[in-house]
Amino acid sequence: MKKTGNAKRRQLVVGNWKMNGNQQFNAELLAEVIAGWQGEHGADVVICPPNPYLLHTHERIFDSSIYLGAQNVSQYESGAYTGEVSAQMLAELHCKFVIIGHNERRRLQGETDEQVAQKFVAAQQANLIPILCIGESLAQRENGQHLDVIGRQLEAVFKCVGRDVFVNAVVAYEPVWAVGTGKTATPQQAHEVHRFIREQLGNLAEEVRILYGGSVKASNAEQLFALSDIDGALLGGASLDAKEFLKICEAADK
Ligand code: PEP
Repeated sequence: MKKTGNAKRRQLVVGNWKMNGNQQFNAELLAEVIAGWQGEHGADVVICPPNPYLLHTHERIFDSSIYLGAQNVSQYESGAYTGEVSAQMLAELHCKFVIIGHNERRRLQGETDEQVAQKFVAAQQANLIPILCIGESLAQRENGQHLDVIGRQLEAVFKCVGRDVFVNAVVAYEPVWAVGTGKTATPQQAHEVHRFIREQLGNLAEEVRILYGGSVKASNAEQLFALSDIDGALLGGASLDAKEFLKICEAADK
């Protein structure tokens, strides 16, 4: 299925491995993904392994067209922040992208909208491309508050950096109720939110890549990617299976 109206935006598929894998599993997964993603493509692919495997992953993908990303970054440049990793450190380890404000960090680590905004700034200062995750909980969706929540999450970043810097950023709409649950937003639900996000981006509405994330699989990717406002996907579970991951990358490449 070809879509129209977004000729400017390259499709993007981001694999978030979360806290999974080990050296052997990663090496096998990467070998299969790299072998299946040779040559020129119309879509970009990013892999975000756990931090200890960033260099290991870089060493395998550096002469492929696959980009390296990280799953989180500190908002601080340096100092007494035990366990944190700065944006400059990630850049030194060859990261090009970094996921910011993933709902697991917002929920489990208590990251606030303001911290997420500061992380966005830190990433851009180190020339990393932030992938800003936003999305509503099930209760918020059921109460009809999803657009308010998403508007508030975006506004926290706009307040800190304005809108123009989104020219070098990616937004990922990830309804919390769809991440890791097997439930996917319907194309209508995703379309409504992606349109809303574009409207909030003002002049950059048609330039910024907006990904959908939440139980994307090979079996539903094509239908989601056919929507003109969806520019690819942020994947969790599906990124740990080379065949599944490649099928989704191929769907984005069509
Ligand atoms: C995610 O963690 O960002 C995600 C979308 O996970 P899953 O694909 O497993 O729902």
